[in-house]
Amino acid sequence: GKHRITEYNPQMGEENLRRISMEQQLRDALRRQELSLHYQPKLSVCRHEVVGMEVLLRWHNPVLGTVSPAQFIPVAEQSRLILEIGEWVLEEAMQQNLAWQRQGLPLLPMAVNISALQVHQHDFVPRLISRMTRLGYPGSRLELELTEGVVMEGAIPVRRYFEQLRQLGVRISIDDFGTGYSNLGYLSRFPLDTLKIDRSFVSDIDAQPDKQQIVRAIVQLARSLSVSVVAEGVENQQELACVEALGVDELQGYLFSRPLPAELFSHYLGATRGVA
Ligand code: C2E
Ligand code: MG
Ligand code: MG
Ligand code: MG
Repeated sequence: GKHRITEYNPQMGEENLRRISMEQQLRDALRRQELSLHYQPKLSVCRHEVVGMEVLLRWHNPVLGTVSPAQFIPVAEQSRLILEIGEWVLEEAMQQNLAWQRQGLPLLPMAVNISALQVHQHDFVPRLISRMTRLGYPGSRLELELTEGVVMEGAIPVRRYFEQLRQLGVRISIDDFGTGYSNLGYLSRFPLDTLKIDRSFVSDIDAQPDKQQIVRAIVQLARSLSVSVVAEGVENQQELACVEALGVDELQGYLFSRPLPAELFSHYLGATRGVA
């Protein structure tokens, strides 16, 4: 490759070679404009109004085809390419949301996934703030989805950082909640707005009482922390009825919409505008 030399070693195995080749392709993905963003609506319970969206990265490469984030995000993290990619995601997503505003579409908060490596950069928050200032992007329209790990490492400087963002109206949520090892003490001290229940607890929940117990406990925890709860991965009416009965506040899932490219998402917004 252009940026690195890798000697062939028969012990490397196919898996390793695939990872290296993916990393090499990913290195050029931004320059070759192979990355794009999709947007998935979040809806309120009961009325099912669109109240926000999540930004999800997509990669199409001529050699590898369409690669799912589950495959390439870990490679981007191991190679630290996620830092550069994460910057691009924030810039592109904010520009898109501002473009929608100019087109007269409803102003919606946008949730962006942030990798732990990004948060660990000492200047992550000041750079985010100066980006928002430069673009004229209001804090109230940004939400950061962090992993449980980031919150649990929640050293005081990290918490101060996020408190600074929250004063600008930026919301903080914990993604895939329930799959990590949350320490309740840390959780209560971290400046938080939302817990997003992991899809694995929502899938088939209507037929699985143990999942219902878990979601009930997460909703109770959220109430006591005064934060809201989002159920992600809602795929059918039975799951919907179940999570609504358990008291979640917002919904996200294929039942309502898959993640959509920008143009289709704006059609979706236009079509659902004002519909209760
Ligand atoms: P996530 O943040 O938990 O995102 C939700 C994932 O669930 C998305 O997968 C979404 O397409 C999928 N999903 C939503 N509704 C349903 C449903 O009803 N059924 C099923 N089966 N899946 C549903 P996706 O887009 O493949 O992304 C996977 C993960 O990759 C994300 O999980 C997130 O952790 C990571 N990721 C995606 N974009 C970014 C990004 O820009 N930056 C970072 N750091 N990570 C990202
Ligand atoms: Mg997410
Ligand atoms: Mg999630
Ligand atoms: Mg996930």
